[in-house]
Parts: sequence; structure tokens; C-alpha cells
Amino acid sequence: MQTNSLKFLTFATLIPMAIAMSAQQPQLPKPEETEVWSPVPAVVTPGATNTAPPSDAIVLFDGKNLDEWVSAQDHTPAQWVVADGIMTVKKAKGVGNIETKRKFKNYQLHVEWKVPENITGSGQARGNSGVFLASTGPGDDGYELQVLDSYNNKTYVNGQAASIYKQSAPLVNANRKPGEWETYDVVWTAPVFNEDGSVKTPAYVTVLFNGVLVQNHFELKGQTLYIGKPFYKRYDSAPIKLQAHGDQSEPISFRNVWVRELP
Ligand code: MG
Repeated sequence: MQTNSLKFLTFATLIPMAIAMSAQQPQLPKPEETEVWSPVPAVVTPGATNTAPPSDAIVLFDGKNLDEWVSAQDHTPAQWVVADGIMTVKKAKGVGNIETKRKFKNYQLHVEWKVPENITGSGQARGNSGVFLASTGPGDDGYELQVLDSYNNKTYVNGQAASIYKQSAPLVNANRKPGEWETYDVVWTAPVFNEDGSVKTPAYVTVLFNGVLVQNHFELKGQTLYIGKPFYKRYDSAPIKLQAHGDQSEPISFRNVWVRELP
């Protein structure tokens, strides 16, 4: 029958064609070839909220005491004011900046800060503080992520809140009003130095300000200097430092500070 012979013709033609094609074409890659099964990432239990410390965090301030902190100047016990679950800069003579007892290289940091609702002053003299991502010594400028009231306060943009001081303005201004809590979530990649002190790889920083990306893997040019061009100075690991700025505005506060060390 015509239909059957057509069927046979089709079959007889297709089989050799299929064999010929499979001989010509390389084997298709298998999905398994790109699957990685080890090492298995460690299990980390997230905090109850995205601002609460996850299970592998080192809690640097939980509202109770300053046990993790010392005076940056002489390493005596930190003397900022702790009350109602928050710590507040003490702008008294001889108190100054505080820094962690622990030293860090690469890390993820969460810190919350608040400018007093009744803040006064303007420019750099309005709620100025800072998170020094590496405090390399009392005589050094270190690497400052600026803290300032920039809600409605004009200053140089590479010195406003969430700037890498005098190196990188934030991508946007995500500042909340004075009196409201602000969050910084930071990924810090420390610089690496050669034996002779030259830079092997520079520092990088990524910052979310109130959940908004404001520094995107920014490559630092060195320490964040008040005057002059930035430069690097060799260090291995360093504390994290909080600034007691010398301006006369009302002192700002911090809470819920934690860090996760990264490889
Ligand atoms: Mg500052």
C-alpha cells in the first residue's frame, strides 16, 4: 500500500541520517558537569530580623555594656554613655574615640546610629561622627565611613553621611530625619600589603545605607585624610573605631553593632 511504503521510506531514510548526525556532533555537555557539591557552606541561622545578628556574628554592642570597646587613645575602658540599650558619644575632655578590642581584616558590619532630634549646627558640625573601618593607630586617619546629619544639611558631598570621607560621595542620599535610627551595612575588604609595604591589593568597600546601596565595591585610594591626598600605610589587622567628633552639636548614639568575619 502506498501509505505503508511511504512510512517505510521515511523510516529507512531517517535512521542512517540520525546515525550520521550523531557521529558528526560532539556529545552534549551534561548538567552534572557544572554542579559543585563540596565544600558545603556552613549553616548560619539568620537573626529574627535582617538587622539582628545572625548566629555567626560577633556582637560588638548589644545595648548592655562597652565590654568589647576601649579608648582608641590609650586602650583604657571605653567611657561613652550606655543607657536604655544605646551608647552615646561622650564629648568630655579626655574621652574621645572608642575602638574594638578585637582586630579584623575582612568583614561584614552592621551598625545603627541616630542623630538627636534636637540637633543643632551645620555642615560638618552637625551630628558628625564616623565608623572607621580600620583604625590603624591614634596617629593615623584610618578609613572613615562618615556619620553626619545629611537629611537637610549642605556640606561637601564627599563628606556627607555614607561618604568614604573625602574619597567617594554616596551614590544617593538615603538619610532619615534626625531622631530616627539609621543603618549601615558594610562589606569591607581590607588592603593587602607586600613585605616592603607597597600595596598588593587595595581596600574595597560596599555600603548599604538604610537598605539602599550607596557605595558599590568602591576602591579606596588609601586612608581617608582630612587634609591632602590619600595614601596607604601597611597594617595587618585593625580594630573598628567610632568617632567622637570635636564639634559642639549634640552627641549622636549607636546601637546594635555586630560583625561577621570573612575569609
Ligand atoms: Mg566624621
